[in-house]
Amino acid sequence: MTSRVLVTGGASGIGAATSAALEAGGWEVLRADLAETEGVIPLDVTDEAGWDRVLDSCWPLTGLVNCAGIRLRSPLADTDLGDFERTLAIHVRGVFLALRGIARRTADDERSPMGVVNIASTVSSHAVAGQVAYVAAKGAVAAMTRAAAVELAPRRIRVNAVVPGLIRTPMTADRFEDPGQLGWFAARTPLGRAGEADEVAPVVAFLLSPASSYMTGAVVAVDGGYTAC
Ligand code: NAD
Repeated sequence: MTSRVLVTGGASGIGAATSAALEAGGWEVLRADLAETEGVIPLDVTDEAGWDRVLDSCWPLTGLVNCAGIRLRSPLADTDLGDFERTLAIHVRGVFLALRGIARRTADDERSPMGVVNIASTVSSHAVAGQVAYVAAKGAVAAMTRAAAVELAPRRIRVNAVVPGLIRTPMTADRFEDPGQLGWFAARTPLGRAGEADEVAPVVAFLLSPASSYMTGAVVAVDGGYTAC
C-alpha cells in the first residue's frame, strides 16, 4: 500500500522541499496551502471546516506534516493584537485542528501506524527579541507535540517536531538580504552558516519513516548546533 502524506505549507520553502523528498521516497504527497498554486489543495489551516473537508477527502493518511506558517516580526510595544492572534491562530490553532482531526478519525486499536511531524523553531526554546507572537506560537507547537505524542501513542500514532535553524526560504528572504543579520546568526551557529530547506526535508522524511519507529514526542533540532549553545 502506498503511504499517503498531507503537507501543509506545501507550496513553498521547507514544505515544498519536504514534499519533494517524500515523493522521491515513494510517498503519495498531498500538498495543502493558503497560496493558490497548481496541484495544491486550498486550505487555511485556521479554518475548522476547511480541515474537516481536507481530511475527509484525503483520508486515510499515513503521514501529516504541519509546516504552514508565518513569521511576525514586531517589537512587543508595537505588536498589534490582531497580528498576535493571527500568528497564534496559524501555528497553534492550525496544529491543534490537525491533531484533533487525526484523533477523531482514528481509534485506540489502530493497526496502521501513522506519523505526524510538526515544524517548530529554535525560538520554541531560545527566544529572540522582536518576535513575541512567533516565540509564543512555536513554544506551543513544541508543547503540543509532546502532549499529542503521549495521548496518541496507544493508536500507534507517533508525533514528533523538527526545529529548523535559520533556513533560506521566502519567509527568511529579508535575513539573507541583510549581511548584518546573516552574520549575527552565523556567529551564533556552531556550524557557522544558515541552512537550506533540502537539509531539513530528509529529517522530516526520517521521522515519518519506519526507521524512526521508536521515536515519539521528540523535538529534533536541524539548526547547525544553534540550540546546543
Ligand atoms: P515559507 O513562507 O516559504 O512557507 C510557508 C508556507 O505556509 C507558505 O506556502 C504559505 O502560503 C503557507 N501558509 C501561511 N499561512 C497559511 C495558512 N493560514 N494556511 C495554510 N498555509 C499557510 O516559509 P518556510 O520558511 O518554509 O516555513 C515553513 C515552516 O517552517 C513555518 O512553520 C516556519 O515557521 C517554520 N520555520 C522556518 C524557519 C526558517 O528559517 N525558514 C525556521 C524555523 C521554523
